Amino acid sequence: MNVFAEKFADLKILRYDVPGFESLDLNKKLYIYYLSQAALCGRDILWDQNNRYNLSIRALLETIWQTFCGDRETESFKSFEVYLKRVWFSNGIHHHYSTEKIPAGFSETYFAELLAQSNWSAFNLPSGKSFDVFIAEIKEVIFNPEREVKRVNLDSEKDLLQSSYNNYYQYVTQTEAEVFYAELKAKAGSNPVSFGLNSTLVKENGQLTEKVWKLDGKYGKAIGQIIFWLNKAIDYAENELQKKYIGSLVQYYETGDLSLFDQYSIDWVMELEGEIDFVNGFIEVYGDPMGIKGSWESIVNFKDKEATKRATILSENAQWFEDHSPVDPEFKKAEVKGVSAKVINVAILGGDCYPATPIGINLPNAEWIREQYGSKSVTIENITQSYFLDSMNNGMLEEFASSSEEIERAKKYGYLAGNLHTDLHECLGHGSGKVKEGVNTENLKNYYSTIEETRADLFALYYIIDEQMINLGLIPSVEAAKAEYDAYLRNGLITQLTRIESGKDIEESHMRNRQLIARWAYEAGKADNVVEFVCSGGKTFVRINDYQALRGLFGQLLKEIQRIKSEGDLEAARNLVENFGVKVDRQLHEEVLARFKRLDLAPYSGFLNPVYELKTLPGGMPSDVLIRYNEDYTSQMLRYSNDYGFLPMVND
Ligand code: ZN
Repeated sequence: MNVFAEKFADLKILRYDVPGFESLDLNKKLYIYYLSQAALCGRDILWDQNNRYNLSIRALLETIWQTFCGDRETESFKSFEVYLKRVWFSNGIHHHYSTEKIPAGFSETYFAELLAQSNWSAFNLPSGKSFDVFIAEIKEVIFNPEREVKRVNLDSEKDLLQSSYNNYYQYVTQTEAEVFYAELKAKAGSNPVSFGLNSTLVKENGQLTEKVWKLDGKYGKAIGQIIFWLNKAIDYAENELQKKYIGSLVQYYETGDLSLFDQYSIDWVMELEGEIDFVNGFIEVYGDPMGIKGSWESIVNFKDKEATKRATILSENAQWFEDHSPVDPEFKKAEVKGVSAKVINVAILGGDCYPATPIGINLPNAEWIREQYGSKSVTIENITQSYFLDSMNNGMLEEFASSSEEIERAKKYGYLAGNLHTDLHECLGHGSGKVKEGVNTENLKNYYSTIEETRADLFALYYIIDEQMINLGLIPSVEAAKAEYDAYLRNGLITQLTRIESGKDIEESHMRNRQLIARWAYEAGKADNVVEFVCSGGKTFVRINDYQALRGLFGQLLKEIQRIKSEGDLEAARNLVENFGVKVDRQLHEEVLARFKRLDLAPYSGFLNPVYELKTLPGGMPSDVLIRYNEDYTSQMLRYSNDYGFLPMVND
C-alpha cells in the first residue's frame, strides 16, 4: 500500500493500513463498524469547540469549492484550495499545532470573486441573518489579523480566556472561571468528578452558567447520533464489561452526569479481555488554556494478532536467549520471563485524533482513577508503521543510504526487521540480565536510562542476525537482519542528526544510546574496517563491510553494558555516554542538515481513514463489512461534512 496521499503547505497526508481486519469474525467486524460510525459523528462538535465561526466558515468554503464556476486553474484558486485543505486539517481556522490563525493566502478581492461566481441557492444561512451580514462577518474573521488571533493562548501576561479564541467560554474572564471551578472543587469530597469537562461556561445576565454537552443540551444533535451507533455496537460487544461501560457512556451522553463518565472510565480501565477497544468522548484538555474543557475525540482499535504472535514466540523462548547471550554468566538470569507486549492497530480516527493523530494512548486522565484503578497505555502499531513506510519513500533513504543494494534491502525487509528489533528490545532486552545485590538504578544517576536503552537495543541487534531467528520463523533470511544493521548505523551516525539543531549536542536518551552504539562499533572496528564512512560527491555515507564482525562488536559492547548495569559502574557509564553518545561531529552535522533541508519534507502529518462499507442480506441482516483505502483527502473531508454534519452553523 502506498501510504503517501498528498502534501500541501506544511502538511502531509498519509494513509494507514488496518492489518487483520478482514480475517476478524463477523461479530467483531460489526462491533468495529458501529463503533467507527460513532467515532465519526462528533466531528462537528470539535469544530465548534475550536472556534465559534468554524462550522460557518467550513460550509462557506465547501460551497465555493463545490459550485465555483470561474477558472479553477489560476494561482488564486489553488491558494484558496490550499486554505480549505488546511482548515480541514486543523478542524477549523487555527493551525492544529501552533493554534495561530491560518493566513488565507488569497486576497479579499479574490474572495469577492469566489463568492460572486459560486451558487448559493442551496446554502442554509444561520437563522435571522441576511447573506450580506453573514458574509461581512465571516470576511472579518478570515482576513482581519486582529480577529480570532490564536486558539489557545498560554501567555500568562494576558487573560487566558479573553486572549484565546476557542469556544469553551463565552463572555467569561479567567478569574471568573477560576473562582467558579474552585468553588465547585471545594464542595466536592475525595474522588471528585472532572468539573467543567463537558460544558461551555457562559455569562448570561451577569450569571455564570454551564451549557452542558448532552442529548437534550448543547451539541445534542451530534450526541444523539453518537448514542444511536453506540447502542447498535452494544449488541456485538465481546463481553459483559464492555456492554456495561458502553451503557454508562450512553447514559453519560444522555444526562451529562460526570460521575457516569467516571464509572465508564473505571470499567474501561478494568476491561482487559476483549480484542477490540475504543475511546469516545470529551477527553483531552489541551484546547483549553485552563485545562478544564475536554475536546471531543474517538479512536477504535483492536489487537494486532500477527505482531502479538511474534511477541509470544519470543516470550516463550526467553530462556534460550538469556542462556546464549554474550554477557558474563554471573549477570544472567537463571529464570527469565519474556514480556508479552500488547500491540494494537487503529480502525478509525475521529474528532481531535483526526487527521493529526497520537501514536499512543494513555488514559484515563482523572488522577484518582489512575491511582486506584490504573491506566491503559498502548502504542498504535499501524500508525507508527505508516510513518515508517513513508520514511522509505520520502527521499531520505535515497539521500542517505550508501548503495542501491542498501536501498533495496531497506525497502524489502526494513519494515519487518524494524518491528522485530522493537519486539526483541521490548519483550526480551529490558527483561534480561540481573544486577548485583544492593545495586539499583540510582547508581548510574542521569546515565541510567541511556545505558538501559543501549542494553535493550544491543540485545536486539545481537540476536536479530542469529540463526535462531530463521529457525523460529521470525525472519526469512540473514538479508533481513542486514537491513536492520544498515538502518541502525545509518540512523545512529547520520540521519538522526537531522533532529538536532545546528550547534547543539544530543540530549534525548534514545538518541544518545543510538549514537553511542553506532559510534562505539565504528571506532572499535576501525582497524578491521568493519564499518566505514565513505565520501562521494561531497556527501558522507556509512557502509558496513563485515556484518558478522559487527555482530561480534555488538556482543562485546552488550557484555560491557550489562556489567556496567549489574555493578552500577557510574564512571564507566559516564565515559561511554559522554565519549560516544553526546557530542556531535559539527562538520558532518552541518552537511546532514543541508541535505535534509533540500528534501523539503513537511513537518506535520495526518491520516486518512479507510472506508468501511456494511454489506447486508436481502432481509437487511448484516453479512460483512468491507474495507477500502482508496478515498482521497478532499473526498473524505467532503463526505464527512455531508454524512456526519449534524450541527447547525451556530451553536449557543
Ligand atoms: Zn526501551
